[in-house]
Amino acid sequence: MTIMRVDQLLSRYGYCSRREARIWCNNDRVTLNGEAQKFSDKVDVHDVRVDGEAIEHPDGLFVLLHKPVGYVCSHDNGEGERIYDLLPPQWLQREPRLNSVGRLDKDTSGLLILTDQSELVHRLTSPKHHVNKRYIATVDHALQREIIDAFASGIVLRSEPKPCLPASLQILDETTAAVEIAEGKYHQVRRMFAACGYQVQTLHRTQVGPWYLGDLTEGEFLVLPVPAAEVWQ
Ligand code: URA
Repeated sequence: MTIMRVDQLLSRYGYCSRREARIWCNNDRVTLNGEAQKFSDKVDVHDVRVDGEAIEHPDGLFVLLHKPVGYVCSHDNGEGERIYDLLPPQWLQREPRLNSVGRLDKDTSGLLILTDQSELVHRLTSPKHHVNKRYIATVDHALQREIIDAFASGIVLRSEPKPCLPASLQILDETTAAVEIAEGKYHQVRRMFAACGYQVQTLHRTQVGPWYLGDLTEGEFLVLPVPAAEVWQ
């Protein structure tokens, strides 16, 4: 149950400002069991209706997005096109704020998870919890089999005190590999290939933990129920 004042609720869920909520209530747009509500009434988010419709995603947001190349995982304007602009604008007005679970480089495409559940972001990005991430990478010249062992034994990255955790690499064709890593260091996959003498040409993420990109097309997103704490704690 999430009970709060109507004006607070409409503002938190990104419908309108608290000031506007008074007007919406005066115009009988907010109801509970068919009865118009005052802005100061306390209501359960699951029961209240706005223009006859239930509140969207009352228990929080958990979103799988197919990030296209060229978009940045930043809230700041001025760094380029933002992944957040691919989502309904109302979601960006919600509190708590929607954030990506880790980041993908501007030049990387594929699966990005977004949620407003900060504990979940922490759990899925914390270096203590090794959440697997799978990528498809294409590189600038033919892959040699030695790179499989190099990835498996833990690549040493420049200016990193410790080697990377063992990673799996599968050669798919001459210049394409599937890579699985259990960490999220800055530019990690590109730097791992660079440490072995390859330059990554394209990088695409297909999986994070138990979540797959599936059939999502570029820019498309899917809202899932927020995973229960027992699943990820
Ligand atoms: N590794 C990278 O180098 N870039 C990404 O975007 C993700 C993982």
